[in-house]
Amino acid sequence: MKTIGHYVDGAHVKASGDRTHDIYNPNTGEVRRKVALGTAGDLDAAVASAVKAQRIWAQTNPQRRARVLFAYKALVEQHTDALAHLLSEEHGKVVADSRGDVMRGIDVIEFACGVPHAQKGEHTYGAGPEIDVYSMRKPLGVVAGITPFNFPAMIPMWMFGMSIATGNACVLKPSEKDPSVPMRLAELFVEAGGPAGLLNVVNGDKEMVDAILAHPDIKAVSFVGSSDIAQYVYAGATATGKRAQCMGGAKNHGIIMPDANMEQAAKDILGAAYGSAGERCMALPVVVPVGEGTAERFLDAFMPKLEALRVGTSTDPDADYGPVVTQAHKESIERQIAKAEAEGATLLVDGRGFELQGHEGGFFVGPTLIDDVTTDMETYRDEIFGPVLQIVRARDFEEALRLPSDHQYGNGVCIFTANGRVAREFADRVEVGMVGINVPIPVPVSYHSFGGWKRSAFGDANQYGMEGLRFYTKVKTVTQRWPEGETEDSAFIIPHFG
Ligand code: NAD
Repeated sequence: MKTIGHYVDGAHVKASGDRTHDIYNPNTGEVRRKVALGTAGDLDAAVASAVKAQRIWAQTNPQRRARVLFAYKALVEQHTDALAHLLSEEHGKVVADSRGDVMRGIDVIEFACGVPHAQKGEHTYGAGPEIDVYSMRKPLGVVAGITPFNFPAMIPMWMFGMSIATGNACVLKPSEKDPSVPMRLAELFVEAGGPAGLLNVVNGDKEMVDAILAHPDIKAVSFVGSSDIAQYVYAGATATGKRAQCMGGAKNHGIIMPDANMEQAAKDILGAAYGSAGERCMALPVVVPVGEGTAERFLDAFMPKLEALRVGTSTDPDADYGPVVTQAHKESIERQIAKAEAEGATLLVDGRGFELQGHEGGFFVGPTLIDDVTTDMETYRDEIFGPVLQIVRARDFEEALRLPSDHQYGNGVCIFTANGRVAREFADRVEVGMVGINVPIPVPVSYHSFGGWKRSAFGDANQYGMEGLRFYTKVKTVTQRWPEGETEDSAFIIPHFG
């Protein structure tokens, strides 16, 4: 059986240790291949190669850097289908979703192609007598990206797209659950003319993450994953003086105001709750009908759609969603459903024990709908990350506003309403980082930036867009004067403004 190693300096290399992790076919439950769990020594080799490549890359003018990214974008586009199939094979999301995963990553590479303009500094002519001031955005050096299993194409591209464009080298540590697509993306970078060593991939688990946090030549860490690990990585990275942006978990709410277009809201919520088996940090796992009778009207519109939902294999073109990523994750989702029931919520549709004929070993969870969930329940506070939708009823707008605002997570939220004033006030006051108004999954486009609040993100800078550019660069500001010949006050180096 094949064991995936690392990708360093433009070549596949074996890991030094012998620990491995199984990668499954989630449709059947079989182990498909293995991935090496690397060591600090493996990381040293990857970082040494990245340091060398970065020195030359940082001297390469921005337009030339952008040309490499243009070529890369075109090559990834050509390979979108193959990447999407490889992604579905290890992750379990249906191919159409996998294609979206790749395409949202390409969007960020496309934004990164504009780096000559975006990375321009600022200039003030005549800030004082014959004094000019200019600032530049310098790359940090070698940076690391640590990514989750659920977007194995898009999230690595957020990180290496922006960091490499700005003159850094990137060492990527993908999820051990589905590393094949990140590995392929790194190969394609070299095929597109990217210098070897600029994008290295090291595989591993906690041991590798700890080595990244401790490595003196890694200047910044970008992390996306669950909140406890995000907080751990943030603390570890900043303790060793690195920059860190660490995105965590989520529990996004969909508020349904009584005046919402109920058919549209029900359709949107169905896709946002169950799409990709709910394994999205911008999924909508909580719906909040507001006011008397709204929950009933929502259920009338929603139930027929839920009954028509089709669970299938990741390669079934008619399936709405496929299996979840591992047996362990399936069991964790089923435990959460049991907990909700034990806490007194009403199970309207129970997806436990779902079996797909001919794929009995697959990691499938049926769509689940839970009513009468209240804020004191653990099942409400926890992230489930599966095809499970909870209904929490709210009396009025103020209560609906408080729910996502008081929740430990603050990634995304959506309000469904026909009233612009209500929507505007909600968007202004809600304590959440990304807000949708009649848009169920408000993932910002690549030229804005992505980031939640509260326990959904640790650190200051968002991912991609200008926030991403700022994260991967440090500002140097030069104040200059060119006195004519030798003057008496040429030693007076603190300029006088004003
Ligand atoms: P995870 O936290 O288990 O893993 C993320 C990364 O951390 C992986 O690379 C993994 O190898 C590493 N890791 C795991 N355990 C570790 C440990 N003990 N110490 C150090 N590193 C460790 O997350 P996951 O299950 O791969 O992904 C799902 C989670 O990611 C969900 O919570 C989801 O909400 C979140 N997510 C958040 C965003 C966002 O932008 N906010 C986006 C996607 C996913």
